[in-house]
Amino acid sequence: MSRSVGAVLVAGSANLDFVVRASHVPAPGETVLGREFATFPGGKGANQAVASARAGAVSTRMLVALGDDPQARVLEEALVDAGVAAQVVRVPDLASGTAFICLSDDAENAITVAPGANTGLRPHHLPSLRGVSHLLLQLETPLDTVATFARLARDAGVRVVLNAAPATTLPEGMLDSVDVLVVNEGELTALTGRGTVAAQIARLAVPCVVVTLGERGCVARRGAELFLQPAFPVDAVDTTAAGDTFCGALTARLSEHAGLADALRFASAASALACTRLGAQASIPARTDVDAWLATQVDDPARRAALAVYCGTP
Ligand code: ADP
Repeated sequence: MSRSVGAVLVAGSANLDFVVRASHVPAPGETVLGREFATFPGGKGANQAVASARAGAVSTRMLVALGDDPQARVLEEALVDAGVAAQVVRVPDLASGTAFICLSDDAENAITVAPGANTGLRPHHLPSLRGVSHLLLQLETPLDTVATFARLARDAGVRVVLNAAPATTLPEGMLDSVDVLVVNEGELTALTGRGTVAAQIARLAVPCVVVTLGERGCVARRGAELFLQPAFPVDAVDTTAAGDTFCGALTARLSEHAGLADALRFASAASALACTRLGAQASIPARTDVDAWLATQVDDPARRAALAVYCGTP
């Protein structure tokens, strides 16, 4: 049966990041006089939706719960500007999600998230899945909502991509509805316990597992087949949203029926480029930039061999 190219639906969080730079992160009880202050649209769900749209998915929609406040307008506008069709659940009695971030000069940070309206995303809010080929989920909205969305999508024949971040223990049976699981090393350990990456991946009964390993790259298992994709070397200035860029770009390419190896290569290039720019959504590159840059990149067998050793692959 041939499958047509469908839309990507992202269901998840949006937060407005309030960022202040300071000499150091305050200790408990301390007040630090900071410097520049800026606000940036963020939240894993919104970042991933922007990444999917910029990666050229045929269409990207986002189901997002927002308050009835000025922050909501900023968050919604950022999605629309990036070409995401926002489907907003209004939660008037809660403030839109916010994150308070102190960035120190030695690149330490302290972050407090007030999830607010993101907690108002409930299982009955899932919209029609008509025309949707992939549902992309994260864990910054209530877990019972995420689990129900995954189950309903699976029942409707929609591919479910779960970025199990931030690290947590998943409700029993949740992974049964997941087609593609994307995790970083800490999240992988939270799900599987310790061991080599290859051993950890083998413990997960999900058809396809992708583990991102920061500047080393990523490894994936589909069935019994392993895929290694070293990271593209760049001068990284800000790795915020590298993982979100990876997830959105990967899902966008899978929704166009790219092969897994191609999709991993594209997602790695998109996230490497995101590391060369400041900010979260602002750093996510467009498809044309990624394609042009990829054409200049040569795969390095030594990096691939080092990645295989690190992962403990046979
Ligand atoms: P997270 O931000 O979720 O912890 P990672 O740090 O594993 O995710 O990064 C996701 C992907 O971004 C990696 O698999 C890699 O492809 C890319 N990446 C991250 N850091 C770098 C870097 N310093 N240089 C090049 N690519 C990077």
